[in-house]
Amino acid sequence: DAPTTPFHRVLLKLSGEVFGGGRIGLDPAVVAGIAKQIADAVHGGVEVAVVIGGGNFFRGAELQQRGMDRTRADYMGMLGTVMNCLALQDFLEKEGVETRVQSAIAMQQVAEPYIPRRAIRHLEKNRVVIFGAGAGMPFFSTDTVSAQRALEIKCDAVLIAKNGVDGVYDSDPRTNPDAKKLETVTFQDAIVEGLKVVDAAAFSLCMENKLPMVVFGMEGAGNITRALLGEKIGTLVTN
Ligand code: UDP
Repeated sequence: DAPTTPFHRVLLKLSGEVFGGGRIGLDPAVVAGIAKQIADAVHGGVEVAVVIGGGNFFRGAELQQRGMDRTRADYMGMLGTVMNCLALQDFLEKEGVETRVQSAIAMQQVAEPYIPRRAIRHLEKNRVVIFGAGAGMPFFSTDTVSAQRALEIKCDAVLIAKNGVDGVYDSDPRTNPDAKKLETVTFQDAIVEGLKVVDAAAFSLCMENKLPMVVFGMEGAGNITRALLGEKIGTLVTN
């Protein structure tokens, strides 16, 4: 079954914040909507791996500011991502899409361990592979993990779904009303100009390995499906 899209295999990064629907915890209706969009893309012929953040539960840096030990707080953040993975798995399977969750922190009862070659095998069988627990290491972000996983399992691009912003701007659109959205930008410029929509470590990992990145807004109807199927959307970040 030949792929009908410009992408053969992609990695989709979803922020945890979205899963919470603006609150702490999970909004199942939101997760169901995202799952439907991913299922549509899988049925359209693209292999999809997913990394999910954990911002709807805990962010290590925020807990640190409120007095917690940073590394312990980061582990709590990573555990939060796994709950998001299980929620997405549930709704993807309700859409008839086979899935596997792979965790960077061992938890055999709920997820496979992260085994890259096995992940590739799942993808070849049209299963969606959902990566949980980030890198399994404190001081990392799920953006950076997305770039790393995309490289290791040989994705054609890493697609960063954002909420509240629909691409990369020349300055922060939340503080500068004159900020302009960029159709394309180089990793170099994004890093030098400190465009913080994605973290710098993720930009630099992609740059060093020439992995294209698409930053797009997930708010519009069907945007996730469109991005996965390779439609022009958001901002393309390349070398
Ligand atoms: N985290 C970590 N190492 C990783 C990935 C995540 O320590 O490899 C922790 C970190 O505390 C982070 C939290 O997990 O704040 C949730 O991830 P992130 O902030 O990237 O989620 P998002 O903002 O995308 O929802």
